[in-house]
Amino acid sequence: MSERREEVTPDSMEQACMLCGWAASDPEVCGRKIKKQGLCAHFFCLFFASQLLYWQDEQPGMLGFVMQDILHAVELAAQKRCFVCGKNGAAITCCREGCDRSFHLPCAIEGECVTQYFPPHSSFCREHRPEQQVEALPEEDTECLICLEPVGDRKSFHTLVCPACKHAWFHRDCIQGQARYTAISSFSCPHCRDNHDFTFDMLHRRL
Ligand SMILES: [Zn+2]
Ligand SMILES: [Zn+2]
Ligand SMILES: [Zn+2]
Ligand SMILES: [Zn+2]
Ligand SMILES: [Zn+2]
Repeated sequence: MSERREEVTPDSMEQACMLCGWAASDPEVCGRKIKKQGLCAHFFCLFFASQLLYWQDEQPGMLGFVMQDILHAVELAAQKRCFVCGKNGAAITCCREGCDRSFHLPCAIEGECVTQYFPPHSSFCREHRPEQQVEALPEEDTECLICLEPVGDRKSFHTLVCPACKHAWFHRDCIQGQARYTAISSFSCPHCRDNHDFTFDMLHRRL
């Protein structure tokens, strides 16, 4: 006897994040959803939202953000159009002075924007994102040291190289995923073990 499950995802009824408008999204990108006093927002959407200040003592807002500030950020976002998907409600704005490109956190990768997952959580549009300065090209059949899939034969937004040894290549998504769960002090190139330049390039420049 086979009992067919209803193909209804719980997400279709889930509350959407007030900062990006998505109910379901990649937790690797947006983080978990936080709900309080009728507000609902992704963990990382809160951190990246423009002009949203984080307060150390957690009262009385959501995770150290003041409720009023969150509502203000939502209001601001409502007036901004995402340059990637064209929809309103783009809470993140490029940090480069004078640039007013805004985007949703879940649209960042498609738009080739850089969002830095560490304080002060800066974000950049694809034109102003920091680039890796290393002169190196992946050799044929080079694999990503994390997932062991090929990285392709050129440097691109999706490919990063260790600035110290210039031999370790990674997919941006792979290194970004790892960076989020590794302490900065132990974050190093799996190939040459360089920590200083590696961390700088992987975190401060690109992620
Ligand atoms: Zn969100
Ligand atoms: Zn968008
Ligand atoms: Zn910009
Ligand atoms: Zn990879
Ligand atoms: Zn290295």
